[in-house]
Amino acid sequence: VINRIWLSSYPKEVPHTISYPEISIPELLVNAAREYPNQDAISFMGKTIKFKELLNDVYKFAHGLKQLGVKKGDRVALLLPNTPQSVIVYYGALMLGAIVVQNNPMYTERELEHQLVDSGAEVIITLDLFYPKVENIRSKTFLKHVIVTSIKDYLPFPKNMLYNLKLRKDGQYVPVLKKDGVCFFSRLMKRQPVFPIHVQLDPKEDIALLQYTGGTTGIAKGVMLTHYNLVVNVIQEAHWLYRAKKGQERILGVLPFFHVFGMTSVMNLSIHLASTMILIPRFKAEEILQTIQKEKPTFFPGAPTMYIAILNHPNVKQYDLSSIEACISGSAPLPLEVQDKFEKLTGARLVEGYGLTETSPVTHANPIWEKRKIGSIGIPWPDTEAKIVDPVTGEDVELGGIGELAIKSPVVMKGYWNRPEETAKVLVNGWLLTGDMATMDDEGYFYIVDRKKDMIIAGGYNIYPREVEEVLYEHEAVQEAVVVGIPDPYRGETVKAFIVLKEGAKTNEKELDAFCRERLAAYKVPKAYEFRTELPKTMVGKILRRTLVEEERKKIEKD
Ligand code: AMP
Repeated sequence: VINRIWLSSYPKEVPHTISYPEISIPELLVNAAREYPNQDAISFMGKTIKFKELLNDVYKFAHGLKQLGVKKGDRVALLLPNTPQSVIVYYGALMLGAIVVQNNPMYTERELEHQLVDSGAEVIITLDLFYPKVENIRSKTFLKHVIVTSIKDYLPFPKNMLYNLKLRKDGQYVPVLKKDGVCFFSRLMKRQPVFPIHVQLDPKEDIALLQYTGGTTGIAKGVMLTHYNLVVNVIQEAHWLYRAKKGQERILGVLPFFHVFGMTSVMNLSIHLASTMILIPRFKAEEILQTIQKEKPTFFPGAPTMYIAILNHPNVKQYDLSSIEACISGSAPLPLEVQDKFEKLTGARLVEGYGLTETSPVTHANPIWEKRKIGSIGIPWPDTEAKIVDPVTGEDVELGGIGELAIKSPVVMKGYWNRPEETAKVLVNGWLLTGDMATMDDEGYFYIVDRKKDMIIAGGYNIYPREVEEVLYEHEAVQEAVVVGIPDPYRGETVKAFIVLKEGAKTNEKELDAFCRERLAAYKVPKAYEFRTELPKTMVGKILRRTLVEEERKKIEKD
């Protein structure tokens, strides 16, 4: 059964299908700056940047990149938390026709190296704090230019405090020189013209973004998203949020922009709606509460763990959170209790949505102001077809049956970068196979039941067991390792490793923990270990992951 229902419960004046302009992502900014030049586009630690100023900085950065030799189609990597620079360099690189490669600052050097090498990025823009990480792996990548910025570049600090970039090496501080191919963002921006760069772009064909994800198989692959994919998802979201008024909203920017959810639901949406985005580089409940009270956001896209952390803050009742009108929670299931309590606390509407990197990302959400269903990811967004198929035969399942969720929509990716075989596995006859097991009720609302893939989602972060297992297998004492997600009341799931040691070999939890910490971002490191003499396996020797998960579930239920 294909769901083509869109918001049958919405007021009649909200159209059920939309026409999407064939424009590039930077054109969203150009349009907003033309209509609302003096509106604040960004609010960051007490400083504001108007739309006309933001556009000028984007022009300057695009010219700066051009000067470095960057051309259409070149990959430009970003390693930045949410700061004004993360917006400027993203729009600037796209204006030049370059392809943005987002990186999580929490990555270890090994993870970063994989993405830089795989994407072939020749330029990276990073914060001084993360510069040592880049420097350590630079020789193993294709990087020609490293552009370094500082949090202080957009804050009113005294001049002599700027650009005190130092490279930590064996406890020594060594100044970094420009001749190394390292340049400062602030210097690159100097004396650059503030007029547009015209690059011929085909929004439907030209790639805007390589967004890395494990997808269904776990190897980090670059999802190719075109300008059109991204523009469509933003316009769909604005449509879903139909009461939002252009030039009047304030959007809380705490979801990281290096993840596709934050990029679309905060950064691009905020630009499209000519809203003010309130930038927060790191999630800390106390800071968020203070910021909400002071900055008065109206829209707060987040992950379930963010809403949970706010609810659990001891002084939450002391803060005025009444400015928030709407929230969309995505990336993991939203517990009913959290939805309930958060709505009571703030008076806002908090609804669940769903999506994945391969779909730019949002494909489903509950209506905010009309009928929503608890435990459901809602209904497909406009012009999004969704169906449930048998994961083995690919045939449609009957209404109410469980199967793999498949999507057909203008937001579906072009494919995986340089991986045609992986692409062919998930893009079948124009449908994207999501790897999520779901069901649809007779009103067209969808429910995620399980994941076909083994991915673990802990605190909103995706963890691919295979990647963690590969690290464990590198340890000399480990014979077999399997990593599963076990239920966790706060983080949704948490990582647990089951280990079989080589005969006569010795190690312990502490040693394995240190070993993993050196090689993996903290959120991927197992939080629990269990040593066994053997693991449950199928006849062909495949470890039965699900059996282990079930055992854990039963143990938790008993407790
Ligand atoms: P990513 O590509 O990082 O956006 O991760 C996408 C995956 O997150 C999906 O394939 C789902 O497995 C999971 N996901 C996203 N939203 C939800 C949700 N509301 N409920 C359950 N799982 C979700």
